[in-house]
Amino acid sequence: MSALTSGVANGALGNHGVGLDAKVLVLNRFYSAIRVIDARRAFVLLAKEIAEVIAVEDGSYVSYPFSTWTELSEFRREFELNQHDWVRTSRISIAVPKIVRVLGYDRLPREQVKLNRRNIYARDANLCQYCGRTFPTKELTLDHVKPRVQGGGNSWTNLVCACVKCNARKGGRTPEQAGMRLIRVPAKPKRNPAISIRLGSPKYESWKAFLDEAYWTVELSED
Ligand SMILES: [Zn+2]
Repeated sequence: MSALTSGVANGALGNHGVGLDAKVLVLNRFYSAIRVIDARRAFVLLAKEIAEVIAVEDGSYVSYPFSTWTELSEFRREFELNQHDWVRTSRISIAVPKIVRVLGYDRLPREQVKLNRRNIYARDANLCQYCGRTFPTKELTLDHVKPRVQGGGNSWTNLVCACVKCNARKGGRTPEQAGMRLIRVPAKPKRNPAISIRLGSPKYESWKAFLDEAYWTVELSED
């Protein structure tokens, strides 16, 4: 490990630059997307040589050990300044990679998707699951399909996003009792739905190829 990379591993990057909060897609050694982490964590994986950088160059994917990536950052700073986020060490600036690939087995298990409000809204793409219209987050509520008063719990299959009006109309009833229909059956997403939101940003264009086709189509056709 060079002095630079060991410094990075020990947290020497400190708070140098907003680039440390940039998002990085993590692939496993078979090139499957497993999670999204912030750049700070990605640099630690790279510096410890647990992961390598995957970069897009002229339409193809190229892998770099962190030492090479760091050396090339000077060139990238000159020619690709606006295409990257940056972090500074005391001596140089390093381009924040957009994708890293974990080289070993079992270092980063696939992330369990957390059941929370944000992820349910993301799964449902901010669409009210009753009227099918899109709403800003603050105008949405969480609806228990089978109401709590009837024994319905918190789960991926019993929670959906609903607009205030539909939620009020449904009240403490099941959709059948209220004469309402879900636009689709709620299910647990296979991958963190927040990834699909970031895919809308051109900055994360390079992530697309690593997210499976079915997932991509399903999630984005509703954005
Ligand atoms: Zn509605």
